[in-house]
Amino acid sequence: YLRKLEAIGIRFDGNQEKAVVNTDGPLLILAGAGSGKTRVLTARTAYMLQEQKANPQSLMLVTFTAKAASEMKRRLISYPGMDQERIHQIVSGTFHSIFYKILLYHSKEKWSSSNLLKKEWQKEQIVKEAGRALGLDEKEFAYDLALQQIGLWKNTMVLPRQVKPDSPWEEKTSLLYERYESSKEKNGYFDFDDMLIGCHRLFSDRPQLLEQYQARFEHFLIDEFQDINKVQYELIKMLSARTKNVCAVGDDDQSIYAFRGSDPSYLLEFEKDFPGAEIVLLNQNYRSPHEIVETANTIISANQQRHKKEMKAQYAREVQPVLFYPYDEEEEATMILTDIQERIEMGASPEDFAILFRTNTASRAVFERLAASSLPFRMDQNMESFYERFMIKGMLAFFRLSLNEDHTDAIRNILPSLFLKQSIFRDLQAESILKDCSMLEALAHVRTGFAFQEQKLKKLADVVRSLSRLSPLAAIECVEKDLGYQDFIKKRGSEGNKWDKGSDDIRDLKVAAKNFENIADFVEHADHMIGMNREVKQAGKNLVKAITLSTIHRSKGLEYNTVYVLGAVDGSLPHDFALDSYRNGDPQPLEEERRLLYVAVTRAMEKLYISVPHYRRGRKANPSRFLNGLNKNL
Ligand code: ATP
Ligand code: MG
Repeated sequence: YLRKLEAIGIRFDGNQEKAVVNTDGPLLILAGAGSGKTRVLTARTAYMLQEQKANPQSLMLVTFTAKAASEMKRRLISYPGMDQERIHQIVSGTFHSIFYKILLYHSKEKWSSSNLLKKEWQKEQIVKEAGRALGLDEKEFAYDLALQQIGLWKNTMVLPRQVKPDSPWEEKTSLLYERYESSKEKNGYFDFDDMLIGCHRLFSDRPQLLEQYQARFEHFLIDEFQDINKVQYELIKMLSARTKNVCAVGDDDQSIYAFRGSDPSYLLEFEKDFPGAEIVLLNQNYRSPHEIVETANTIISANQQRHKKEMKAQYAREVQPVLFYPYDEEEEATMILTDIQERIEMGASPEDFAILFRTNTASRAVFERLAASSLPFRMDQNMESFYERFMIKGMLAFFRLSLNEDHTDAIRNILPSLFLKQSIFRDLQAESILKDCSMLEALAHVRTGFAFQEQKLKKLADVVRSLSRLSPLAAIECVEKDLGYQDFIKKRGSEGNKWDKGSDDIRDLKVAAKNFENIADFVEHADHMIGMNREVKQAGKNLVKAITLSTIHRSKGLEYNTVYVLGAVDGSLPHDFALDSYRNGDPQPLEEERRLLYVAVTRAMEKLYISVPHYRRGRKANPSRFLNGLNKNL
């Protein structure tokens, strides 16, 4: 079969070949990025089917994303002897999709998708209700992070009563966890994490059923094994107990989902649960030229906790990766777009390019340039517009009220952010009807019975009136300082929030605001961008030839001709929270950040550009510490 593949140009080196044809017993493929792991997994699948080593229905092929699964099937079809029908019979997809189907099969009602909490806000509603019952202040408690923590506990199979909180915040969150679970149970809801936990429970409760599945599945092929979490691992261990035919493929240097419970030790200690496992190491990189591979090697070699492996490139280009130093985020975006435009004029295709970033907010300027250009681009479906972020939306509400004195949504938004009761809204409405004046005017006259409130409302009216005379930048500062929005940012955006702090968002907003002279233009621009965000996501679903705008996390496993990495400065990559942990004696998050940069640079097949802006969020920035030790010629 391999000779047949060779005939159509699909070749394998010696180690790869071993991994393709040794189909009996547990096998671990541990290798760096671009070494052909995913390709081997695909070939192994085709080989087993074609050489009658397994029926398609007895194969479970697990990928990290749905997209990766369909990509693998697309590749499979080009292999000799494969046809749609056979490929269709393979059980393939993400852990969630595979195990959800099993659950549905056994209990349709309970697991009907109408009971699934699909959206974050649905889950947030439940924890918020639980929070109210516990007397937590909605404005001050970071529910989104609590949900993240709850997910982490669930994926590591820690039940509510087993939590050992190590901070007051965790203590509160564990109480929320308990109530969240019982509320779901009571109302018949479930979330994504419950699919895996539910399946584990199903098999634990019904040994006979488990036996049936153990008999059915003879081979397990799992890509991106470094990001497997406990419940996923336990499921695989359970189901493979009979045959032990688990082929695990991964790279511990690309483990980047610790915050969701991923644990690379399942990869590194594979032999513990699968004794006698064959281990294949691949050290040839087939994706990138020598110069990029060297850069990746240097970056990752500084990590302490890793399984050492040096990658060797197959070819050189004598073109070094490029470090470039724009003034700030704005110039960063301009430089990248200019480069892409020039290269497309010279014959490159949009899908050759990927722009990768650490957190969504870092892509604001690039998004705006792309939106203003005629270039096709696509991005994640769950990437919200920068201008719809919580703190930004809150800030823009003041501008909106200034531009439209009767903007009721804006007032509703503003009241809680100045620690004013929502009930004042009704007073304002009554006042505006009574005096036949605008809502804004009503702010200045309304009687609430509390002098301090009335003063605050009058001040709000005065300040909002003055905003239209200011530049957007000055207006932001005015709302922050004169109205005390700062206090709100501090309260709401701090506790436990390690990703994008509210205060950081406002600093980003200031950078964006510098491009505009008055708040009317700025708000119009924001609305335009919010609309564009929706449009791009809509169109992007069927766009094949498009520039990719993606977080580094979502780019794992993929490859692009040219890769631009945004914001390689301390505070962004590595992220601030990881630097904080490092200073507090925990080096783990910093190592994960370094793996992120490693993942980003190893996506490039031809060209790699790393951007190191001098200024970020309006402040002087230092080049990322991860760039230390790189070739001085870059
Ligand atoms: P990652 O860790 O990023 O997921 P990977 O190890 O899964 O990478 P693949 O995506 O399978 O690597 O392969 C990387 C690239 O190298 C692909 O374009 C693949 O087609 C090519 N490739 C792999 N092995 C060979 C080979 N023996 N000869 C030629 N090209 C190869
Ligand atoms: Mg891969």
